[in-house]
Amino acid sequence: CADSALYRAKHAGRNNYQFYTAEMHERACEVLSIENSLRHALERGEFLIHYQPQVDARTRQMVALEALIRWQHPVWGLVSPDQFISIAEESGQIREIGDWVLKEVLAQIRAWRAAGLPAVPVAVNLSLAQFRQNSLCDQLIDSLAASGVEPAMLELELTESIAMEDISFTVDSMDRMRALGIRFAIDDFGTGYSSLSHLKRFRADKIKIDQSFVRNLSIDNDDRAIVMAIINLAHNLGSRVVAEGVETPEQLEFLCANGCDEVQGYYFQRPVEAEKVALLFGRNFT
Ligand code: C2E
Ligand code: MG
Ligand code: MG
Ligand code: MG
Repeated sequence: CADSALYRAKHAGRNNYQFYTAEMHERACEVLSIENSLRHALERGEFLIHYQPQVDARTRQMVALEALIRWQHPVWGLVSPDQFISIAEESGQIREIGDWVLKEVLAQIRAWRAAGLPAVPVAVNLSLAQFRQNSLCDQLIDSLAASGVEPAMLELELTESIAMEDISFTVDSMDRMRALGIRFAIDDFGTGYSSLSHLKRFRADKIKIDQSFVRNLSIDNDDRAIVMAIINLAHNLGSRVVAEGVETPEQLEFLCANGCDEVQGYYFQRPVEAEKVALLFGRNFT
């Protein structure tokens, strides 16, 4: 596939149109080969989950974990979700993958508990197709019951764009799942087009400031203003606010000084395998 693209590029001369066609062809081949490999990934047990702590800005203790999927491909190595989630979404494979993530996380919570670790809620990212599944709520009821994990131990992360796509659907589903005791976070906040009156109706437990605003906090006055505004907005709506992508002490200092409740990022801890989570409890994240 890639070879034929290369052949065509070589024989196409210096014509831009042909050049882009070859590139697009190559990308299409790549997508197809990812999609094909994804077909076997579940049955071959190639997915795994890494966990990243969310740290309370005041107590500096871990108060939650976020589950982040990884794909251990036999040839390509560790593939990040940004490289395959959208493809799985397009092909419809995301539902099975999403089901697997939920089951795996619930089983992991139970295993940590059996090992005597303190309980912290675990956040799971939902894709659009997964959230739109009418059966999601029933499936959650079944999976929670089967695992014996309390609903409050599960937090679902919906990106702002997913949440805003069909507002009345979002509000209804969130209400039904909240009635079970499940918590919600609005992920990547600030990158979508939220109407504030709609945001209020979500009654999210947490609002997560997108890392693109955190990245340049120490040099960009606009980003500082945006972050301060999001923190105030979240608090006025009764939500806790979490900053993603915290990498430096300067970013941390600004966030703490401005009342951000929780922080998450490489500065404290990169996502780790489930086996290493035990080491994070009781650690003082300074
Ligand atoms: P997200 O939910 O916004 O997750 C945060 C991403 O930022 C993660 O990337 C995390 O590893 C990364 N990150 C954390 N701290 C830092 C930092 O200090 N600096 C930088 N530069 N990055 C940081 P990851 O694990 O590659 O996941 C990317 C996205 O893939 C996630 O963004 C989420 O939207 C999606 N995703 C991950 N796991 C799942 C899943 O199980 N299901 C679905 N549907 N989507 C998932
Ligand atoms: Mg997330
Ligand atoms: Mg995010
Ligand atoms: Mg993201």
